[in-house]
Amino acid sequence: MTDQGKTDSSQRFLDEHEELRPGQQFRFACHPGVRCFGACCSALNLMLTPYDVLRLRRATKQNSRTFVHEYADMSAMPGVGLPILSLHMQETDAKRCPFSTHGACAVYADRPSACRTYPLGRATRPKAGGAAGEIEEQIFVIREPHCKGFEEASEWSSASWMDDQGLTVYNTFNDRYMGLAAALREAGRLSQQQTGMAGLALYQPDDFQRFFMSAHALERLDMSDERRAAILRDEEACLDFGFDWLELTLLGKTDKISPKG
Ligand code: SF4
Ligand code: SF4
Repeated sequence: MTDQGKTDSSQRFLDEHEELRPGQQFRFACHPGVRCFGACCSALNLMLTPYDVLRLRRATKQNSRTFVHEYADMSAMPGVGLPILSLHMQETDAKRCPFSTHGACAVYADRPSACRTYPLGRATRPKAGGAAGEIEEQIFVIREPHCKGFEEASEWSSASWMDDQGLTVYNTFNDRYMGLAAALREAGRLSQQQTGMAGLALYQPDDFQRFFMSAHALERLDMSDERRAAILRDEEACLDFGFDWLELTLLGKTDKISPKG
């Protein structure tokens, strides 16, 4: 799809759904007592963000290569070349999510951002006149006729829903990913080698840690000893560093790390 085509389809999505402004409420609940419970976990085009992959991989106790091979389809972001993952639905007629078991979610505590955010949609863009990395968001309600959750009594604002669904940490990492994609769209398409580097930094923190450990490459970057140790110990810290590293190596700019000397 061309960038114009993408912009048109994004705008169509925004036009077709009701915006939920800060403080406005919507009624919704999803639980085993709802008539349609579990019915929506199939035939989905479900994008996995880097932080989704980190959490799901940890939940399934797989190394990143095995996880991506077993559970994900990989493609390249049009016009950018940044790798994009989506959850591979089961190859049966029903095309159920691989984590849907007897109507329940086997990875509920680590379910992806899209599953947490539904029935809301969140669109973000760089904040006009804002500092680097600052974004503004618009929230939408996605009312689908098959979803009976809207007949439930619980009331939410977008903020209380996001909080209830544990989305703060997901949105923080996802906003960095979207910010990186937006900056790369302006910078031009990645080479094949750069696409490989991006895949390693974004979706394979275990391999990324091993790469930096064996090459002693972290020692050539100006950062505190505490951060260096955290990157090699903690996958969240490693993913956060991965964004900094891609901004430095692909865009030549980040205020968070720089080569020594
Ligand atoms: S269709 Fe709506 S209420 Fe039913 S299981 Fe899916 S999200 Fe929950
Ligand atoms: S990850 Fe869980 S909530 Fe999301 S589609 Fe699969 S079974 Fe449903």
